[in-house]
Amino acid sequence: MIEVLSVASEAYPLIKTGGLADVAGALPGALAAHAVSMRTLIPGYRAVMKEATGGRVVAEFSDLFDGPARLIAGRFGGLDLIVIDAPHLYDRPGGPYSGPDGRDWPDNWKRFAALSWVAGQLGLGLVAGYQPQILHAHDWQAGLVPAYVKYGPSDQVKTVLTVHNLVFQGHFGSDIFGRLDLPPHAYYEGVEYYGGVGYLKAGLQAADAITTVSPTYAREIRTPAFGAALDGLLNSRASILHGITNGIDVGAWDPMLDPALVQNFTSSTIHKRRVNKLALTERFGIEESDGPLFSVVSRLTGQKGIDLVANNVDLLVSLGGRLVVLGSGDAGLEGALQAAAARHPGKVGMVVGYDENLSHLIQGGADAILIPSRFEPCGLTQLYGLRYGCVPVVSRVGGLADTVIDANEAALEAGVATGLQFSPVSSDAFGDAIHRAVTLYGHEEVWKKMQRRGMKSNVSWDLSAQRYADVYAALLGQERDDHLTD
Ligand code: ADP
Repeated sequence: MIEVLSVASEAYPLIKTGGLADVAGALPGALAAHAVSMRTLIPGYRAVMKEATGGRVVAEFSDLFDGPARLIAGRFGGLDLIVIDAPHLYDRPGGPYSGPDGRDWPDNWKRFAALSWVAGQLGLGLVAGYQPQILHAHDWQAGLVPAYVKYGPSDQVKTVLTVHNLVFQGHFGSDIFGRLDLPPHAYYEGVEYYGGVGYLKAGLQAADAITTVSPTYAREIRTPAFGAALDGLLNSRASILHGITNGIDVGAWDPMLDPALVQNFTSSTIHKRRVNKLALTERFGIEESDGPLFSVVSRLTGQKGIDLVANNVDLLVSLGGRLVVLGSGDAGLEGALQAAAARHPGKVGMVVGYDENLSHLIQGGADAILIPSRFEPCGLTQLYGLRYGCVPVVSRVGGLADTVIDANEAALEAGVATGLQFSPVSSDAFGDAIHRAVTLYGHEEVWKKMQRRGMKSNVSWDLSAQRYADVYAALLGQERDDHLTD
């Protein structure tokens, strides 16, 4: 059994703002089948503390970055957690990174240095009877974990850093360095980043292994176009960089059992999706039509190419399509989509906000999901789409390129297509893809086969969990029977 401590700033079902939470929440369960025991270290935000009742206090600090703190261990939300109960850092309204006004907390440097520092202490054997062999850090919020190990008193515990999105880097002023409890030489050897302190950069420089969430993204981030100024460093660390595609929680996302659906279905009863489609059109005030019902479930940001959706709404409607949008984010993009809905009453509907249940109903009722991302480390909504027979229409980048098989003629002929891809990421190319989707939808049998194939494609965590287990085992110098290579 390999003992791993996952260090994450969010984990489903306790606290979630995006895909990182899904991954952090699903990995421990998936790894159990591969002889890996994974605990998760997480900040004690209000939402987490509400769940963390009845746990065991396993450590106390009189001063954890300017206030007292305790570590509480227990099984909460189905996860084996160690929660950092530090009210001065985490007991606040709002989200994990920002206040109710949407602004980042000014002391985020401290809040997430604390997360990483505590992980480093656990790696040093802080808690009697618990010695992780690997610290697996996620994103910039845990980026200092490898640095605390590398520049700390012992680097015996190995470190893995997973990049879920290279754009979020945790870049702070150099003035905080003296507060981080790192030796002075760590600054120039690894933590310094463009004259300040870079949490993600520090992690990339110090980790024993780096992973990111798809093979294509692993290649893309080594280029200036996708490297967010870290491509040089990533190239220098290419030999320890692995692309491992995310899976999804096929228990929480199971069209046969999903309680959020009005009607459950399987790949052989795909016609039952109609009931969900009807519920969806009612909810969004969409009129009946013979055309496809397209959908968007997304953060509304430039990364997600939401401007391309707004640009193509008129085309989509003119081709007989309908559109439902669930999302929130950039005010300009939100406004553009709301204007489109106002322009096309009964044909385009929008719900602004975050609604987990509605996102399930959309995947189980819409005909296609639009994901025109400019970059996409892995992406989860196309995987949910595949599993729910909601055909993904995606840009050919990152994990979208790795998980959807484009319905080109050869793929249709060979009977392997599962969705539509387009490239380059431009409004015109996306418009062409929408056109193609409408045409394919008109060929009912072809469309149904594509839906069924998607539903049968393997989007579970199983293969990915095996790859992570391989990375851990290699770091520990262990051989594994079911070893896979990159
Ligand atoms: P990212 O993490 O970059 O936002 P992913 O596709 O990896 O993108 O993950 C997004 C996750 O958040 C998915 O689980 C998706 O269903 C969910 N999601 C995004 N927006 C919403 C929303 N408005 N309501 C419900 N779920 C949403």
